[in-house]
Amino acid sequence: MQADHRHERDSLLIGRFQPLHYGHLEVMRKISAASENMTIGIGSAQYSHTVNNPFTAGERYRMIANTMKEVGIDNAYIVPIEDLNRYSVWVSHVISMSPPFSIVYSNNTLTRRLFKEAGYEIKDSPMYNRHEYSGKEVRRRMLCDGDWRSLVPEAVAKVIDDIDGVGRIAGLKDDV
Ligand code: ATP
Ligand code: MG
Repeated sequence: MQADHRHERDSLLIGRFQPLHYGHLEVMRKISAASENMTIGIGSAQYSHTVNNPFTAGERYRMIANTMKEVGIDNAYIVPIEDLNRYSVWVSHVISMSPPFSIVYSNNTLTRRLFKEAGYEIKDSPMYNRHEYSGKEVRRRMLCDGDWRSLVPEAVAKVIDDIDGVGRIAGLKDDV
């Protein structure tokens, strides 16, 4: 499928955002500035309440929307996207859920491959302080009562506090 030329500066970024951290935010700032519109796809939207996927799509939506507001990014669309266990139709699935886009930002090999095969322009984005800025590290610190707050925007910490996210993860850790 060919991307529509009218949307040549519209971008897509997909992640699980479990939770959104400063690494994601840096990428979003960059993409937002380079784009007319930026669609943020919340991947694996159907999962929640596990140690690796603790937050619902709705909770992640709030984290992203409130952060965009907090930092003044006003060209973001947020779209929850459930997994499909059939990769050959996954791109069509994403397209069906998203506003139009023609550029895909991803560092994930499979995502890049699938969109490339579908005729999309793929861009990679640099990793910022990946040692600390990763969802896995944020969740690890939540589990061991570490300093996770310094890794996420204030708006994200507020949502996590609202829903007792730390209590939720702590209650799930024996399920791993
Ligand atoms: P997890 O550890 O749970 O996999 P993650 O930090 O890798 O979380 P994802 O939601 O899996 O976050 O990633 C979404 C996208 O964000 C990926 O394409 C990834 O390249 C990008 N990303 C993740 N961390 C950073 C970072 N520190 N700097 C820049 N981009 C990042
Ligand atoms: Mg990841």
